[in-house]
Amino acid sequence: METVINIGYLVAAVLFILGIKGMTKPKTAVRGNQMSATGMLVAIIAALLDHNVVSYEYIIIGVLIGGTIGAFIAKKVAMTDMPELVAALNGIGGGASLLVASANYLESQKLAEMGQFVPTYDWSIAVILSILIGAVTLTGSFIAVGKLKGKIGDAKQVRLFKWIVKLSLAALLAGAAYFAAVDPVNSDLLIAGLIVLCLVLGICLVMPIGGADMPVVVALLNSYSGLAGAAAGFVLGNNGLIITGSLVGASGIILTSIMCKAMNRSLTNVLFGGSMSESSGVSRSENDAFYEGKVKFSSADELAMLLDGAQNVVFVPGYGLAVAQAQHATRELAGMLEKQGAKVKYAIHPVAGRMPGHMNVLLAEAEVPYDQLVEMDAINPEFSQTDVAIVLGANDVVNPAAAEDPNSPIFGMPILDVHHAKTVVVVKRGLSPGFAGIPNELFIRDNSLMVAGDAKKVLQDTISALKDL
Ligand code: NDP
Repeated sequence: METVINIGYLVAAVLFILGIKGMTKPKTAVRGNQMSATGMLVAIIAALLDHNVVSYEYIIIGVLIGGTIGAFIAKKVAMTDMPELVAALNGIGGGASLLVASANYLESQKLAEMGQFVPTYDWSIAVILSILIGAVTLTGSFIAVGKLKGKIGDAKQVRLFKWIVKLSLAALLAGAAYFAAVDPVNSDLLIAGLIVLCLVLGICLVMPIGGADMPVVVALLNSYSGLAGAAAGFVLGNNGLIITGSLVGASGIILTSIMCKAMNRSLTNVLFGGSMSESSGVSRSENDAFYEGKVKFSSADELAMLLDGAQNVVFVPGYGLAVAQAQHATRELAGMLEKQGAKVKYAIHPVAGRMPGHMNVLLAEAEVPYDQLVEMDAINPEFSQTDVAIVLGANDVVNPAAAEDPNSPIFGMPILDVHHAKTVVVVKRGLSPGFAGIPNELFIRDNSLMVAGDAKKVLQDTISALKDL
């Protein structure tokens, strides 16, 4: 039976890897997702056959409770709340590893008292890692949820948090070393203390981070939840968990690194550089003063006229497109322009929206052809030959300050060079800033027009106006 179970885990691992590979391209993403889901099914069946792990009654209760909550949340969650959901799921994953390792510790303690268990270094290290990383991931992730939801503001006492982090880390290292090396089965109090310390550490690590850095933190916590899972796999001797946890840990860290690059931040700077919006966010009056009398407002009718003669049009989607659910209207307008003989493309910034791949998912829903989605590095040289760039609810990812103003808090973040297009039309509801909380000079440039309104409504009006021309 053990061989069958291990083959099951191996098949699941292969399916996970093929699944992740498939998900790297829009064309193969659906198949990749199906492969991963099949892999998960195989892994679950293998775990169920592994009768030693836990009794079936508990599994059924767990499946019923977890499945019901999961199905309910999956049905209810809005696309724009996805990052919060991912962060919460990371936290729950970390919490699960914490509980599994703690339960195993208590059980092993009993067995050791009866002389049926002798702790090894491998076991001690796996238990302590699973407990510690799990606890940090649990509280860190829920602080991230609060921050993404806007319920927890950016911390002012960044220095204090950094000190607590440093002290906690030193205490942790000493405690963990004592546990692993000196007395791994009679350390109840020590373990309890370490758990509390890690719960505090998770809070203090994430509290000072804010603004535009939160997506990186979520990706990093995703990686932590994988590492905690892999450590729990070592505790339980479960190969499936070890492989899956390692895959999540590795892919999370790769995603973290890609996102850091897309924001031009080093990971150390993101984690310990303090909140970005703390220094960057401007007040409402400062924001209004920045734009006062300088923005050229236009209308859907005027946009239609502009588009009527355009040969090369690039749509630049951002978070506001997701809020407005304007992907279908965008596709419809693009279709009309193509019928008129225009060349249409969509410029995709790696951190546009609120989660990696957000824009790809949105546009795929409206069946935009994959070959029209062009990544930032490939589209940037094309903006100088673009007649009209239509910015739909994007802000930070098209802010020229990132390239031109060394004092800007987002200086160095790669952006879509829409300001090089002949005409830029910005569609958004008003002059509110984007995620980073700073004004955007693009909106007051000579070649820039703004059509104020909900993206979907403006696009629908433009479509009607174009039909009437
Ligand atoms: P931004 O958050 O910079 O800007 C979005 C803009 O959309 C706002 O200025 C808002 O202006 C406008 N908007 C909101 N609702 C509507 C609507 N119904 N119709 C039209 N416009 C609307 O978005 P970007 O996509 O440019 O940048 C993403 C930002 O989010 C970056 O700073 C990135 O770092 C961060 N981030 C990215 C994540 C990721 O993984 N992709 C995750 C989390 C954060 P107004 O209110 O005036 O309409």
